[in-house]
Amino acid sequence: MKKTCGWLVLLSLLWLILPRAAAADEDAAVSLYVNGRQASVSDTPQIIHKVPYLSSRDIEANIGAEVEIDASSSQIVLKKSGNTSILSTAADAGSGPQEAVPFKDGERWFIPLAALEDDFDMKVLWDPLTSSIFVYLSEGVSYENSGTAIPDVPSVEDTAPNPDSSQEVIVEPNPTEPSVEDTQDHPDSITDVPVIPSDGQTVIAGFSFAEDVLSIQTNGYAMVEHFALSDPARIVVDISHAVLSPDLTSGQSGGTIASTHAAISQIRYSQTGDAVRLVLDMNQRSAYSLQTDANKIDISFQAESYVVVIDPGHGGKDPGAPSMSGKSEKDFNLSTATHIAQALAEIPGVVVHLTRSTDDFIELAERGEIANRLNADLFISVHGNTVDKPVSGIETYYWHRESFDVASLIHQKIVNASGLNDRNVRRNDWKVLTTAQMPGVLLELGYLSSSVDEPVMWTEEYQQSIADAVAETVKEYFQIET
Ligand SMILES: [Zn+2]
Repeated sequence: MKKTCGWLVLLSLLWLILPRAAAADEDAAVSLYVNGRQASVSDTPQIIHKVPYLSSRDIEANIGAEVEIDASSSQIVLKKSGNTSILSTAADAGSGPQEAVPFKDGERWFIPLAALEDDFDMKVLWDPLTSSIFVYLSEGVSYENSGTAIPDVPSVEDTAPNPDSSQEVIVEPNPTEPSVEDTQDHPDSITDVPVIPSDGQTVIAGFSFAEDVLSIQTNGYAMVEHFALSDPARIVVDISHAVLSPDLTSGQSGGTIASTHAAISQIRYSQTGDAVRLVLDMNQRSAYSLQTDANKIDISFQAESYVVVIDPGHGGKDPGAPSMSGKSEKDFNLSTATHIAQALAEIPGVVVHLTRSTDDFIELAERGEIANRLNADLFISVHGNTVDKPVSGIETYYWHRESFDVASLIHQKIVNASGLNDRNVRRNDWKVLTTAQMPGVLLELGYLSSSVDEPVMWTEEYQQSIADAVAETVKEYFQIET
């Protein structure tokens, strides 16, 4: 991931997330959050032309910068961690009317935070919906000036790196970076106050599952980037300026926990420098959404399911075509369709329905209507062919134009699996295909009138290979990874 685009992702993410927060009163007091934690201020922050200003003493307390007002040279000099930022207080400062410059309100100077972003490598975001200023410092804020009592917990900066770290880590840990290892040297303080690090980092305290949501417990708004990968399916969540709770690491730089959620097989997590990476190994591709809250990150999964209707042609009083050996097409259709349904039922996220599972008669239009009522994603009608000529092979029919892709895909796979002649994909207005209002195909799985095809078609091997080919098609068509 490129660091340069990280802030953009973060900012866009925050805009997505923050409107979900309770609608704040426009007049509500302005809150300040530094690295995800609410900070106390001595002077009410000012918002002018959407630009947040903090008083000089609040900058000292919460940003950790030293502020010197030099009235003689009309300058404010700010120093932080060896960096200096100089702002002009002159009346004509700023090259444009919208440019933010310091101003004096009574005895207090107010300083536009945005003016410090580059010099102090920090990011500032004003969220009018929640009346909150979010400041993210690339390094930990020092609380020494803030007067805030910070519990005496071991800082991750204090712990020695362990080069023999776990192989479970997803990204190689940098041995020069501080790690959370060796925390067992401080067992007492860890158990007492586990989640307040001394430098404002986000602490990843634990994971919990509920219904379709994975919750990652944090101690403040986390800076999160995320993306999905396939082959195998997984979701990667990177949390900047964060540290894993010692409870999760057992002295290692990461770990793995099993999932109790059907869509996820396991969660791997690791500390890499100042960031925590989570990898969710998925059992299947799932749609997901991520929401950051004051004390958690919720990842919601919407398991995608696909309804496939398998229609064994004919049945009951309608035997279909007679086969060479005196059997009926309807029985071939039901047997093969049952094999297909069983193969599809094993695919995660696929729900299969048969229009008939017994030797029943169903009207042609009703077969498509069954699929319509089920809001099916795919309709597959199964048939054996017949003709008064020595013809052999497989034909795949479609009607709706949108069905052509799946018809081509399934045809190629079943021809290969069958070993019979390729008699092409064809378009025809079979009643079942015109009725069903979703992508659909009608498979003519060989000629029961053919001395070549017919003996093969009744075999278990043939019907199972067709079923496997249809299952492959469904997985590919719906992009289901197993
Ligand atoms: Zn038929």
